[in-house]
Amino acid sequence: MPTPVDLRTLSREELERLAEELGEPRYRGRQLFKWIYGKGATSVAQMTDLPKAFRAELARRTRITRLEPVRQLTASDQTIKVLFRLPSGRHIESVLIPDFDEKGRVRRLTVCVSSQVGCAMGCAFCATGLMGFQQNLTAGEIYDQVWQLNRLAEERFGRRITNVVYMGMGEPLLNYDAVLRSVALLTDRDGLGLSPRRITVSTVGLARRIRQLADDGVRFRLAVSLHAPTNAQRSAIMPVNRSEQTDLDDLIEAIRYFEQRTGQIITYEYCLFEGFNDRPEDAHRLADLTRQAPGKVNLILYNPVEGLPFRRPSEERLQAFIRVLVARGVTVTVRRSRGQDIQAACGQLAIYEQTASETVT
Ligand code: SF4
Repeated sequence: MPTPVDLRTLSREELERLAEELGEPRYRGRQLFKWIYGKGATSVAQMTDLPKAFRAELARRTRITRLEPVRQLTASDQTIKVLFRLPSGRHIESVLIPDFDEKGRVRRLTVCVSSQVGCAMGCAFCATGLMGFQQNLTAGEIYDQVWQLNRLAEERFGRRITNVVYMGMGEPLLNYDAVLRSVALLTDRDGLGLSPRRITVSTVGLARRIRQLADDGVRFRLAVSLHAPTNAQRSAIMPVNRSEQTDLDDLIEAIRYFEQRTGQIITYEYCLFEGFNDRPEDAHRLADLTRQAPGKVNLILYNPVEGLPFRRPSEERLQAFIRVLVARGVTVTVRRSRGQDIQAACGQLAIYEQTASETVT
């Protein structure tokens, strides 16, 4: 018997085609889309406005993937991390990050999603990198993380989510098609209807894929993990930089190409590691790079990972670093890591879960 088609991976056009193949008008596909992506249906039995015979045929030939939430942790800063079990039995994690104004009102609700289980890129400071690559997520599995966390946001904070960042487990551009398909679902008015300007895809900096994004005319925002201002430093912590096709020079060229083609300015993510990349001369080199390919700099304060040697710098070192960048005319923001008391560095909880189940079995 053929494997049932997963409805929660199909685009609007694919659902319309499926309806036609099953002898129904195209608009039945649009109804299906609304049920699956708008209302989060988990079975065709719930789709009461579809003809009975059509539902019976769908039930026979298709399934609807749903991620199973297995654990939820809330940090003292209200960041919520959810561990999901995939149909494959592996785990991923997604995070809901509220941002409050001075009066304690919710200003922004950001969902951080995973695009892969584990990651092949092996960055030396990253919990997910320790797992190695295990599996790509489907577009529907990426979408479902956002859908479920949106529902959680409405329950906890009485508001819909405002932003999505692809900064969880995995390198999104190594799961290129599923990531672009998931963005199309998130921005569809019958999906979650998010503006592409409120979606940020963060990459380790795969130059060829960044060019492809530019050629595909994407409208979401792009963030590039720089983390070091020279090839020698970057290669020491990010294996991706060790190839001539993906080193800093090639990356800067690709970013220039992206910015010229899309008219967008990217964000450089720069995680500060004490004594490694946080000296004033590093800040000057970073400012030089942003001259070559303009971009805002987002400084990240590292969430230390057990067993890894990296530490976050002191507030004084951070301020000295910022002073250099500002004096050089660079736009700087600082991201103070959230949810530190719930293992919120990407991959930490899923690794814990995996280790626990490996210990048990
Ligand atoms: S930092 Fe990102 S790209 Fe690097 S190993 Fe971790 S998940 Fe992969």
